[in-house]
Amino acid sequence: MLAVVLHKPKDLRVDEREQPTPGPGEVLVEIARGGICGSDLHYYRHGGFGTVRMKEPMTLGHEIAGRVAAHGEGVLAPPLGAIVAVNPSMPCGDCAFCRAGQPIHCTNMRFLGSAMRFPHVQGGFAEYLVCPAANAVPVAPGVGADKAAFAEPLAVCLHAASRVSIYGKRVLIMGAGPIGALLVLVARFGGAREIVVTDVLDAPLAFARSVGADHTVNVGIADALKPFEADKGYFDVVFEAAGQASTVVSALAVTRPRGGIVLVGQGATAELPVSGVVGKEIDLRGSFRFDSEFGLAVEMIGAGRIDVAPLLSAVMPVADAVAAFELAGDKSRSMKVQLAFA
Ligand code: ZN
Repeated sequence: MLAVVLHKPKDLRVDEREQPTPGPGEVLVEIARGGICGSDLHYYRHGGFGTVRMKEPMTLGHEIAGRVAAHGEGVLAPPLGAIVAVNPSMPCGDCAFCRAGQPIHCTNMRFLGSAMRFPHVQGGFAEYLVCPAANAVPVAPGVGADKAAFAEPLAVCLHAASRVSIYGKRVLIMGAGPIGALLVLVARFGGAREIVVTDVLDAPLAFARSVGADHTVNVGIADALKPFEADKGYFDVVFEAAGQASTVVSALAVTRPRGGIVLVGQGATAELPVSGVVGKEIDLRGSFRFDSEFGLAVEMIGAGRIDVAPLLSAVMPVADAVAAFELAGDKSRSMKVQLAFA
């Protein structure tokens, strides 16, 4: 089978890999679509993010969906042929955090296409993938793999939203990439009073308006956020989805006293004015991946409560993986780029 393997930064290849066989409790999924995520791009460009570094070739990909192609021993569901979103998160179920109901913080976490542990957990940008049957989450009838592959990033946003209260709040979303755009959808669904989105590019800002942002601000222009700093800050809730040091700092200035800042973006090292956090009693919160929100995301997409379809800006065959990664990395031309495997 074909797999999209990163050998080292900027050395992405479509390699032949042996097709896996499902063991007891597992299913074989014939992957149809894989969405290219910001973290895939971090690996592609830099070999990792934060303290995470690739040490061996790794198949990328964790936003994947396809069709159940075979059952391992003892598996009855989902049925053969069912379209499933694959939950890439495989906590051990046995460590102290898993036992405490916090599988996100599992100390033995296996997450598809992640170099956090060694050997790395190979990812889902491949024609076939074996996963625990419970990780193959069936989507509603009529929902295709294209939408199903959005379950993962939507789950990330639903989890981020669970870290604060959105209802009736003025919400600022910093960064208008796919996560920022999905956060707009989630903030609308969650009953935000007003949604403002920032970015340094006009194209993703126009997109954010098209999916429900009330206003957008191009923060590439000096002091563009200044008006929101008046009277100790305008926003009740800020989501940092740009992964930039500068946005975290500017978020502090525009957040109201006792407001919340949720950090979703990865990879930044920021020097923070601590007095800004202390003086306004800001709740500064991290949000990492998701937990039960994966099932919620599949349900919301299936029920049409959140329409992810407008985000899909391009679909490219797996053979063109390098071009697809380059396109996904160009935010002036793309929102979400998916690889097509079938
Ligand atoms: Zn665990």
